[in-house]
Amino acid sequence: MPVNRKCIIRLSRYKNALQRLKALGFVKVFSDNLADAAGATPSQVRKDFSLFGITGNRRGGYVVDELIEQLREILGKNETQKVVLAGVGNIGRALMRYEGFGGGGISILAAFDIDPAKFDENADIPILPLERMHDFISENDVKIGILSVPDVAAQQVSELMQAAGIKGILNFAPIQLRGDDGAIINSINLEVELENLIYFVNAAKKGVKE
Ligand code: ATP
Repeated sequence: MPVNRKCIIRLSRYKNALQRLKALGFVKVFSDNLADAAGATPSQVRKDFSLFGITGNRRGGYVVDELIEQLREILGKNETQKVVLAGVGNIGRALMRYEGFGGGGISILAAFDIDPAKFDENADIPILPLERMHDFISENDVKIGILSVPDVAAQQVSELMQAAGIKGILNFAPIQLRGDDGAIINSINLEVELENLIYFVNAAKKGVKE
């Protein structure tokens, strides 16, 4: 089984579940505990871990602290991940305020916009003119960008990010973006996600199977 996007999403879920279990006082866990907490089957959990050489012990299970450490390492969370954001609208601002990133080792270093009314060089996360984005990304060696500009601007701003050295973009603009060969673009289209939910909720109501 290859390492694909779904597998890495499960690893993040296992890590979050482990952090919750740790807070509850668990020292060891079994694949069943993790499966319940992350919505997978125990055999899926073991398969995912074995892909990365993580082995438990059938009787003893996994040591929570060690497993969190291993997952953080795989997910690149042992060092702070530097991120820039473009587009300080409603979504951009919500992401800048989101406190869950800090604990997870993700740091939004700066945000960029074209609206002078939004600039604020002295804010906790400075909001700077878009023209400064290129130099900021290269000087700070930032590899990850969040895109929360309107759809009409998204392709152009994503190209600016990539030209400056960004290798991964999380795109919230409701539009399909073309990446260059080196960059990975993950898009979150909130309307599509909701339509998907609505479809399956309605289908379940009608008793239609997937
Ligand atoms: P959201 O989509 O986050 O709810 P909104 O409705 O508040 O946003 P939008 O019109 O979508 O506002 O714009 C989001 C932000 O992107 C605004 O702050 C806007 O000034 C900014 N913006 C627009 N074009 C660009 C661009 N080319 N580069 C950077 N920022 C831009």
